[in-house]
Amino acid sequence: MAQDSHQSSYTYTVLCRLDNKSCFGCCGRRFGSKEKVLAVIEKSTQELIQIKDRWDFRMRAKPSDLHEGTCRNLVFDQKKEKVFCPLHPLQNNGVDLRVGHCDFNFLCTTAKKFETWNREKQQSFIQLLRSKNVDVYEYSMGMDKDLFLKEFEQANP
Ligand code: SF4
Repeated sequence: MAQDSHQSSYTYTVLCRLDNKSCFGCCGRRFGSKEKVLAVIEKSTQELIQIKDRWDFRMRAKPSDLHEGTCRNLVFDQKKEKVFCPLHPLQNNGVDLRVGHCDFNFLCTTAKKFETWNREKQQSFIQLLRSKNVDVYEYSMGMDKDLFLKEFEQANP
């Protein structure tokens, strides 16, 4: 494993992992349909199983080489319940293999606004999100496109 990775500080909000649902809304752009995006993630999952070394896995595709708008590093967990980034420091004892690959301090507009609200407003928004009962694809797209934020702001002008 040859790498220039290191410990990093990074930005996230509770929305990025609400109720154990790992949002991947900022891990790509112009995402394809649910079926196509999940197929890309499944292919990457199989590639990680074959390649094993996470640095080599990362290096197999350039950051711009998205499939169906989806980052090639996104994979499913073993039970196929969650999508996660195997380069993330939470997956690598604090070592951030994303350094030099993506903008890990990026926050979507929804997350940025959420961080400026008081606790009461944040809880109302979280209640709205929970009431949606969406899967991780729908949740991620809703965040990426600020759909939940728009709905919330319309109801709470
Ligand atoms: S799209 Fe927003 S909520 Fe989702 S992971 Fe990125 S910053 Fe977090």
